[in-house]
Amino acid sequence: MAGGSIETIKERVDIVDLIGSTVQLRQAGRSFKGLCPFHDEKSPSFVVYPESQSYHCFGCGKSGDIFTYVMDTENLDFRDALRQLAERAGVELESRRQSQADPARDRERDRLIELNERAAAYFANLLWTSPAAQEARALLERRGLDRATADKFGIGFAPNSFDALKSHFLARSATEEELVTAGLLSQHETSGRTYDRFRNRIMFPIRNRDGQTIGFGARALGDEKPKYLNSPQTPIFDKRSVLYALDRAYDSIRRERSMVIVEGYMDAIAAHQFGYDNVVASMGTAVTPNQVSSIRRYLDRVYLSLDADAAGQLATLRGIDAMRESFADDERADVRPNQMVRFERTIGAEIRIVVLPEGKDPDEFIRSHAEQWPDVLRDAAPLVEYYLTHALANVERSPMERAKALREIAIPILDEIGDPDVLTHYVGMTARLLEYPDEEVRRAMLRRSRSQPSRSTHVAGPARERGVSERPSAFDPERYLVSLILNFPQAGATELPTLRREDVLDGRHRTLLDQLLESGASYDAMLETLPDELKDYAIELHDSLESTPGGPPRPPSLEIPNAIRRLAQLRHNDRVRQVRADLEHAKKSGDADLVAEAIRRMSELAAQRTSFAPNESPYFKDLRSEAVGVR
Ligand SMILES: [Zn+2]
Repeated sequence: MAGGSIETIKERVDIVDLIGSTVQLRQAGRSFKGLCPFHDEKSPSFVVYPESQSYHCFGCGKSGDIFTYVMDTENLDFRDALRQLAERAGVELESRRQSQADPARDRERDRLIELNERAAAYFANLLWTSPAAQEARALLERRGLDRATADKFGIGFAPNSFDALKSHFLARSATEEELVTAGLLSQHETSGRTYDRFRNRIMFPIRNRDGQTIGFGARALGDEKPKYLNSPQTPIFDKRSVLYALDRAYDSIRRERSMVIVEGYMDAIAAHQFGYDNVVASMGTAVTPNQVSSIRRYLDRVYLSLDADAAGQLATLRGIDAMRESFADDERADVRPNQMVRFERTIGAEIRIVVLPEGKDPDEFIRSHAEQWPDVLRDAAPLVEYYLTHALANVERSPMERAKALREIAIPILDEIGDPDVLTHYVGMTARLLEYPDEEVRRAMLRRSRSQPSRSTHVAGPARERGVSERPSAFDPERYLVSLILNFPQAGATELPTLRREDVLDGRHRTLLDQLLESGASYDAMLETLPDELKDYAIELHDSLESTPGGPPRPPSLEIPNAIRRLAQLRHNDRVRQVRADLEHAKKSGDADLVAEAIRRMSELAAQRTSFAPNESPYFKDLRSEAVGVR
């Protein structure tokens, strides 16, 4: 695959060989030193580290990896540097554009869709004709689903058999292999035997926006676990980027400029049966930006309506940041690139949380009170209000706990609200919920804006109280930071001026951040500008955050500056370690000049300690100024 070619190049091209072919390097302990190719000097300040495959100049501050080295010494962009290094490594670059035009791949996609559509027809036929489907039909009837709606959504029945679908298809020109690829058959790990994936279940075909069947959701009829089973990830199906019923909701969403996201298939179907056509269902518990990206430009308001139980509320809170960032990218927003205003506009007014009477899910509610659905939407709470009331509701009444909740839960959200009237409203709400006078909340906001928190301050919301594990500390702070910024590009662009370019060593990361800024802090727009190899890497990096336990971090406006500081700290410590080793070495050699030089560098580094504070070194241009173009 294309993304792998960069890794292969990194494995095959050794940075000491690469730099050593133009710069004379001599070994000094675990690193190599030489005269810097980026600035004029008489004694070597340029250090190459074989372990991390990176370099750093203590004279001019240049740093990076093999990609940045070639880019900076030969003034190439990433794509050309990649080409040159691929040649050096003897790696052939596969262009995705070629493979996209690859008719074989198109044929495979078409074939997989065809198989899923044929399976949908097979399941639907069984639902209405098979005696074995009696129980399934009864259940649908009990749930109040009418035949017309069931037909619209193509609902079907998978019989309780390991080979019903398999033998049906094998008799009709399909192979076991392609049925496995289509997600219709499962394969036993050791024996390799294949069998029907869906057994004794009600089948909900999952369609893409164009109405093509790309997979299935399946509900168990008996007590089988899991109760809901989806198609596996296939070349045509990725549940993180699909919204159920979007094909049927699309026109209505565009017309009404609003969308309701519910949790289950039956919730969405019930809404459509009663004429509320702008309703879709998320496939998992948290809404991902990918799911919304294809329609966000048509949306003025999104309602999140999830089950009224605790899990549903948790998912709501977790989905919030993902949603907000997704909308924050919206080009339609008629605001200056001012993060605060945009934030307020997008979350204050746009995203609303639907809370149904206790114990009811949307399916039950709509079936019993269909006419009240518009009222429920009208009463839906704005995001900030919902968040504050839920996150602050169960705070212990002790002075310490209340102060902590104010500091860690409320203030970070309040800080994001730009409109003074809106802010006054939510300051009042916070004060009421935590039993403080309004002025105390205001004072706490001022205190915080004066002293930037130095430690990691995640919001200690219900997620933590309910025992959901905290995010593990990131393995690679640079990688983690870049994946954060890719996920929250608006917040990232705001914070980038505080990131020192020399602290980012990986040439891929530098290129991504540069391109992100050039693309107006839009992740999607950035992807379009990237060479294929880097695009794959960017997507992988972007998605890696979503799969971390506990979901995406929040709020990004805190997490990103923290990640920048952690990275700066780490780089600083590395450099101190290097200079300290140089000093030891110089002392042993008895060269007074070398000792003096090392001591000078040490004090320079000590002075830099203070520059970890934000707004110091604008290596990445600030979007808030008009200038563009970073190099
Ligand atoms: Zn230099």
